[in-house]
Order: sequence, then C-alpha cells, then structure tokens
Amino acid sequence: MGIYDVVVVGAGPVGLATAIGLRKRGIDNLIVIDQTRTFRKVGQIVDLLPNGLKALKYLDPQAYEQVKEAGNKFLNPNSSEHQKTGYQTTQQQKNTKTSSEWVQKNFQGQRLHSIPLDYNHWLKKYGEGRVSISWYDLQTTLRHILPQDLVKANHRCLNVVDEPEYGCVRIDCVSNTAAEANPYAYWAEIVQDNNRQTPNARSIPQQLQTKSLRAKLVIAADGINSTVRKVLYADSPYCAFAQPEYSGFAAIACREISEIPHHLSTELEAKFFEDSPILTVFDDHLSADSTSIGNSRMMLWRRSSGQMGYILHIPLSLEELEGKSGGLLVDLALQELEKANFPDPLRELVRISPSVNMLQRPYYIHRAIISDSIQFPSTANLNAGNYTGTIEPAWSNNRVVFIGDAAHGMPPFKAQGANQGLEDAGVLATLVTNLAQKNNWDNTLAISEAFEKYERLRRPFMESIQQATLGQFYWSSREWQEYGQKVYCRNFEQEMEALL
Ligand SMILES: Cc1cc2nc3c(=O)[nH]c(=O)nc-3n(C[C@H](O)[C@H](O)[C@H](O)COP(=O)(O)OP(=O)(O)OC[C@H]3O[C@@H](n4cnc5c(N)ncnc54)[C@H](O)[C@@H]3O)c2cc1C
Repeated sequence: MGIYDVVVVGAGPVGLATAIGLRKRGIDNLIVIDQTRTFRKVGQIVDLLPNGLKALKYLDPQAYEQVKEAGNKFLNPNSSEHQKTGYQTTQQQKNTKTSSEWVQKNFQGQRLHSIPLDYNHWLKKYGEGRVSISWYDLQTTLRHILPQDLVKANHRCLNVVDEPEYGCVRIDCVSNTAAEANPYAYWAEIVQDNNRQTPNARSIPQQLQTKSLRAKLVIAADGINSTVRKVLYADSPYCAFAQPEYSGFAAIACREISEIPHHLSTELEAKFFEDSPILTVFDDHLSADSTSIGNSRMMLWRRSSGQMGYILHIPLSLEELEGKSGGLLVDLALQELEKANFPDPLRELVRISPSVNMLQRPYYIHRAIISDSIQFPSTANLNAGNYTGTIEPAWSNNRVVFIGDAAHGMPPFKAQGANQGLEDAGVLATLVTNLAQKNNWDNTLAISEAFEKYERLRRPFMESIQQATLGQFYWSSREWQEYGQKVYCRNFEQEMEALL
C-alpha cells in the first residue's frame, strides 16, 4: 500500500501553491488531485496584491516570477518590451494612461479614491507589486511548475476516511462523473450531462469508484463548496458549517453593452469614466441607518472599442434573486438602483443591457469568526458531547486540514480570497516541512499542534479581512492607509521565521 506524505485535494491556485512550496522544501512524495475532467478555461480575473505575492515569493521565487510574467502578458499581450523587462517603461505607462488607475467616484462624479493598477506603484509603496491574471492562467502557470504526473485531473474526491490502523487517511475518488451543479461555486463547471450520475459521498456507485489514495496528511484546497469539509463536518457539532452561508450580497452583471446612444456614452465619459477604463460608483453620503442600501455599488468598465459592461454589488435576499435571468435581472437591477438613488445615466445604461448578456452570482462565505478563547475541544470530547460554549468549526481534524476558500471563502470585494489562500499556503508549507524534518508523520500530537498553530495564526487575521470585505464600502484615505499597512506592508518572510 503506497502512502503519500501529502495529498492536496483541489488544483486551484491555493492547492497548487501549497504543493509547490512543499516540493521546494524537499517534500516530494505528494500529489494534487482535481475533480475537473480536463484543465480548461474557467474563472475570471484575480488581482494578486502585495501580501499574496509576498507569500508566493516565499513559497517559491520561481513560481512568483512566472506568475508575475504571466500577469504582465495578460495586461499587455502585445508589448514585446514588456515581455522582456517584466514591467512597463515610463513611456508605455504614459501612452497607456487609461490603463493605470481604478477610480472610485460618488454619484456626483467626484473622485473619492483611486487605485493605481501598475506593478511599480505598489512595489514602491508596499515593497511588493500587484498583478492581474485570469484564474485559468494562474492555475496553468502554477500547474506547469509541478511535474506533470503530480497533478491529476479527473479525480473527484468524494470521501476522506481516517485509517488509524495504517497511520493515514484514505481519499476515495471517482472519475468520469458529471460535473456537479454547484450553487456556491466561484468556479462551477456547469455541464449538462443528464446521462451521467452525480454520486455523493454516502453512495458511491460501484461502477464509478475508481481509486482510493492514502496519505499521511490531506490538505483540502477544494474551494468554497469543499467536499472534504462536508464529509468532515457531517454528523458533528460542526454540521451547520459544512456548507457555505449566503453572505447577503449578490452580483448582477452585464458582460457587454455595444449599442450605447451617443448622448449616453458622452455623458458617462464626461462625468464618470474620464480617463479611466474602470471605475466604481457608490453613494458616499450615508446616514448611519442606511448601511445596507448604501453598500450598493456599481463597477463599470469601458473598452477602447467603446463597449461597456458593469457589475452591481448589492445587498439582496436569495429569494429576490432566485430563478432570475435575462430581462428579469435587468428589472431587478433597475429596482435596486432606484432604491439606492443611483444617478440617471447609470440607470439608463442598465436599462439598455442586452438580456442575453446578463449574469447573476450570489456570494457565499465560510465565516472565520472566532470566540474569545480559541480552545477547541478535542475530537474525543466533541464526539462525547463534553464541551461548553460556542463551537467554532475547526479548520482541521486529525490528519486533514482546510486551506484557502475551503476554510474561509468569501465575496471578492477586497480582492483577498486568493491572496489570503496564498498566505495560508505559506504558513502550512512551513509547518508541514517542520513536521517532515522531525520525521513526525506518525506523531498525531505534533500534527494536531501544527494545524492548531496554523489556525491560531490565520484565523484572527481572516476575521479582520472578512470584516473589511463585508463592512462599509466607503473608506476615508486614513482607513485605506491603515488597511494597506496592516494587510500589504507586512514582511511575510519574517513572520514565517518567527513561526517555528
Ligand atoms: C468574481 C470574483 C473575483 C475575484 N477576485 C479576486 C481577486 O481579485 N483577488 C483575490 O485574491 N481573489 C479573488 N477572488 C477569489 C479567488 O478566486 C478565490 O479565493 C480563489 O480562487 C480560491 O482558491 P482555492 O484554490 O482555495 O479554491 P478554488 O479556486 O475554488 O479551487 C478549488 C479547486 O478544487 C477543485 N475541486 C473542488 N471540489 C473538488 C473535489 N471534490 N475533488 C477534487 N477537486 C475538487 C476545483 O475543481 C478547483 O480546481 C475572486 C472571486 C470571484 C468569484
């Protein structure tokens, strides 16, 4: 019976980065499995910010360089100069002035805040840059850093079972199953395939059961709708936390509007876009009791060809959103814009949205909230019901640990999901390497201490990131500055040195 040291479930950015960090530190006996039948283009753009990039650099400087290069190509596909240097020259930045800032404006068109998009600005301010990259390019870049045979598609994990008699965990996988409809997913693979069965962990049809893997440790990086999380929390005091909770916010988006009347595009350009290709518009005059309506905001973009698109982020109930598509989504968006007093030109733009281009996405969350004391009952006490006070859903159980969205998935309003996942990966790679160096693969006490340490470090920080994500959208420049210091400015390498 071959036992891997580590099986990573999920070849998303976080699972792959963890595997890269472990290999870099000498842990070779590992494998990454993913449910996708083949790796293919899914997902949208992810901004990697200084904290995530610092963590990636710590995990593996080569991975960091390659992701940075892929991001640069993504932003400037035709710039050969750019490909050579990795950065834009000053002249290029001037020539592409319109791509350098993401502006925040209020309803009157006043500029409230701007986020420079170029790498060098962030580098100067926070000691590390900023990279925009598509989820698929990020996944592909990281995947190619690992040997091909260490990343396996077509392995959907359905079950994890502790096997103390062998000192490992068994991971049951199936292949060639239909893609699961995933209402929580950021990256759902919705493929209509009615002839195939979609098994669940409790009933694996024999003809689909392909293989079981065994590992000393399982790192569950299978995203917000994590199967491993569901399996581990089922029939436990944590069962309420098995599936993500609706965050209260949803997105209504229009991919593209091509036919925009001249008067409207001129007005939008003059009052809102000016030189920016992307902006967010929101109400900066809020009374204390209007937080939820005031948290509506509209992100708009404009291509050089003149087409525009938008994403509305609004507090909505799931019932209001359910089953809505096309024209009904346009109506809902208009109703919400009216409630929040959005200015006429923005409402007019929504009114002319082609219904075929409309999308909706409710945002879910695994809350990281911690109680005053982060003393988790032991598994034995949990099972026996010997505990008092609030139970937090622990991020690990015996030899299995959650990471990335599987632990703390959240809406993308502060662009921190993948960045926080990369921080998790840095911490976990350090602690697991320490276990390996001390040959503690069979020391369950050392393993649970390592996982608790990971959780104690990461959880309070995640709580503050989630508060920032779901809280009041409008921030003063002082608040932005404090957030930047707290999140982007940290010296990740030093933090990792202090960890052991
Ligand atoms: C619109 C939007 C914009 C975003 N923008 C940003 C941003 O700007 N910056 C940022 O940092 N974050 C952003 N995020 C969040 C970011 O995409 C996620 O936080 C990040 O992808 C999480 O990475 P992950 O590897 O933990 O999970 P995922 O990316 O969800 O990957 C999970 C992987 O596990 C696989 N998997 C799932 N179930 C199983 C199973 N049972 N067996 C095997 N494999 C399985 C999936 O196929 C997938 O490959 C955004 C999200 C959205 C929706």
